[in-house]
Parts: sequence; C-alpha cells; structure tokens
Amino acid sequence: MKADLLKKDILKKSTRRDWTEENGVRMGFHRIEKSGLTLRLANVWGFCYGVLYAIEAVNETLDKYAGARIYVLGDLIHNPHVNGELQKRGAVFIDPDEIDRVESDAVVVVPAFGTRKDIFQKIRDRKWVAVDTTCPEVKTVEEEVSRFNEEGFTAVIHGKFEHQESIATSSFANHYLIIRNLDEAAFVCRYLLGGETREVFMTRFSKATSAGFDPAVHLRRIGMANQTTMLMNESMEVFEMFRKAIFERDGHTGNFRAMKTICSATQDRQDAVSALARNEPIDLFVDVGGHSSSNTRNLAITAHQNGGKPVYHIERANDLSADSITYLPIDQNKPATQRNWLPAGRVTIGLTAGASTPHSELELVIQKLLSFY
Ligand code: SF4
Repeated sequence: MKADLLKKDILKKSTRRDWTEENGVRMGFHRIEKSGLTLRLANVWGFCYGVLYAIEAVNETLDKYAGARIYVLGDLIHNPHVNGELQKRGAVFIDPDEIDRVESDAVVVVPAFGTRKDIFQKIRDRKWVAVDTTCPEVKTVEEEVSRFNEEGFTAVIHGKFEHQESIATSSFANHYLIIRNLDEAAFVCRYLLGGETREVFMTRFSKATSAGFDPAVHLRRIGMANQTTMLMNESMEVFEMFRKAIFERDGHTGNFRAMKTICSATQDRQDAVSALARNEPIDLFVDVGGHSSSNTRNLAITAHQNGGKPVYHIERANDLSADSITYLPIDQNKPATQRNWLPAGRVTIGLTAGASTPHSELELVIQKLLSFY
C-alpha cells in the first residue's frame, strides 16, 4: 500500500461509482475494502482551516526569526504530537501566566484558541513581536461576549471553564458564567426560578464565573454563546432551556439573547459522522485525535449517540494493534485499554478525525487496520 493513500483523488473527487484496486485493496468514494474489512470515512474529517493556519504561522515564524526565542502561549492546538514536532523545531511552549519571563527580543505566538484579554494588553504594552493565530471563529466568540456586556447582558457560555479557548473568550466579558452541560444548565435554570440558593450556586460555579459574580444581580439579563467546539445538539438544548426559564421568570424574553458560535468546521465534522452513523451499517467507530481535543471527543459522542455502536477515540495509530486498543471512553477522562476489540468475521469500521488531527495520522491508522486483514 502506498504511503499517500489519502492524497489519492478518489477520496476527494471521485463519484460513488468509481473504484480502483491495488494489491488486494479496493478504494472508492470515502470507502476502502480489503478481504473481511470495510472502512467508511466520514465525508469531512481532520484538520480545519484554523489549525492549518496556526501550524503554518508557527513554522513560518520559526523560519523567519531563526535564532530568536519563539514562545507559544499554552498549547498551539490540542494535538500533543503536532505540538511536539514544533517544540523539536525550537518553539517553546509556556503557560500564559509565565509571560513575564519572556525576553524583550523574543517572539510571542498566540495560539488558535486565543488568549486572555489581559495577556493581549501585556503583549501590546511590552511591544513584543507577536504572531496572533487566534482562529477567526474564536474571535467571533470574543466579539459576541464583549458586545453582550457592553449592552448590559451577562455572557453565559456553553463550554468548559478549564478549556484554553473558554478561558480566553470569557476574559472579554466583565461578567460571565460558563455552563458545561445539560445538568449544569438545568441547575442554573432552577436557580433562575427560585429553586436553588445563592450559596449552593456559588459553591458549584466558583471556578466558572467572573470575579465578583453575583447570580442575583448578574443573571437578570443573559446573552448566550458557545465554545466553538461543543456538541451542536446539546448547545441548542441549553439555549432553549435558558430561553424558557427566562420567559417563565419574566413573562417575556427581552432579557435573553443567544448567538450560536459553534464553528462551521466543528459542525461539518459532527454532521458528517452523524450521517455515517445513521445511514451506514457500521459495526464500530475509530475517532482519531488528541484526548484533550474537545471537538474530537464530541465526534466520538456524536457517533455513539447516532449509531449506538462502540466508539474508540484514539490519539495515534500506535494506540491500536490487532489484539488491543487504548482509547478514551466517551464518559471518562482517563484512557482505557480493551483487548479483543475487533469482532470476528466481516467488519465495517467508521472513521473520523478531529479538527486538530493531521491527515497523515489518519492515514497511518488506515494502513494499520488494513495490515490486520
Ligand atoms: S475547530 Fe473551529 S474554532 Fe477551532 S481552530 Fe478549527 S475552525 Fe477554528
């Protein structure tokens, strides 16, 4: 099997009727077959434009400023192996809170997730040479939460408070609350309707609110947005729960606003894997991408929700062998290893990869799977 499997035009330009065959492997439209194995690729997967731009920008910066120290604020993207390659080339990854140790003649790179408003200010004040790779989709969230606050609405973000992107975007609002999931949304809606106390609220959301947040004051008028990589259907449900709660509390929805800020790349990949899970006879899914990647994890959840089949979220081809697979279960935060993961007999595997996964990594996964048959 040639190493440039995924570069073949068949995966991009062929029609559903075109097939080619090489060394016992048949390849068609997003479909590869070999003896008892069928691989079905989601129509959209892998690197998004924001991630591609960020990687290119760092590589160009390393070339242009050869000899200078190049600091990246946090992870550039959520793929440890891509970040590792850039480190090998000389990029130094630091926590944004360590920015004071950056030398005056160094170059600072803002990652695709963006960075906090106060860090941007510090970069301007210190006049560092800066390369800002913040994805335009993330900039949209920054602008929306900032606008909500200017117009007297508290930003309520459906996201993860510890995620690099939500840390960055929430800093553009003076008052914010970050809601992780339906359970937290239900809690806040109960609070809005008098069913929870302020004390319990503050204990639960102490890490997910702005300094000085007072739910009695700051939840009178709310403007909702998303972390760009959340699950689309869950976000829509969260918005609707809040809209209904505000209507029930106030008798109108004038104190509620919502702006869907899930990025198009996330939505396209979720739609594609959802279509694969619903329409094709898939036995199990393999989803490739960093375990800390929110969008990759949500692809695994989407595949499972729509097909009910096992989903293995792996980081690399090295995570699998014919006998065992090491993966991140969709309901856990630590990887697990499963033996005998491949069913006996004919099997159809659905494949997808997160927006921070290089094409080459999915290609290695495909080659490895083919080697088992
Ligand atoms: S996943 Fe979306 S928000 Fe994140 S870098 Fe890609 S396009 Fe931008």
